Amino acid sequence: MIIEKKKIPNFTNWLQAGGAEILPNTNPYELLRFRCKNGTGVIYANSAGKTSASSTLVTEAIDCFRTQKSWKGKGKPTKRTKGSKSKRQLLDRDGDDCWYCGKPLQEKPYNTEHLINITCGGSDRLENKVLTHVECNEKAGHKPLHEKILLRDRMRGYI
Ligand SMILES: [Zn+2]
Repeated sequence: MIIEKKKIPNFTNWLQAGGAEILPNTNPYELLRFRCKNGTGVIYANSAGKTSASSTLVTEAIDCFRTQKSWKGKGKPTKRTKGSKSKRQLLDRDGDDCWYCGKPLQEKPYNTEHLINITCGGSDRLENKVLTHVECNEKAGHKPLHEKILLRDRMRGYI
């Protein structure tokens, strides 16, 4: 559970105050879809009402909303082309396998993720970014980088 359903309206207002754009939901499991400076985020709810996030972009925003910390996603959403350019550059650099599990990205939903979270001082430049399945990235959560590398090696069966 990343956020209580009843807090979604307040969170939506907070996002809009921070410059984010609220997008229409694309399926019944989506509670909230938004675009901010750092990309698009979605909050899902399963049939039991348990909420989950599409990526750390969302969990970082919720964390800042809760703790009143300054939000790195604040500001007008960037153009979609900018995001896809960085995705193309990452595909050129790393190939089209998930950074965590090493399986093809196309098998499941995937996203650009920061190795060192922006909220922990990580940069938004290419050297801090990798492409991972949304599911694999959720397993890593907010772990420090050396633990993410351990998780990756375990998922790939190296250790
Ligand atoms: Zn993966």
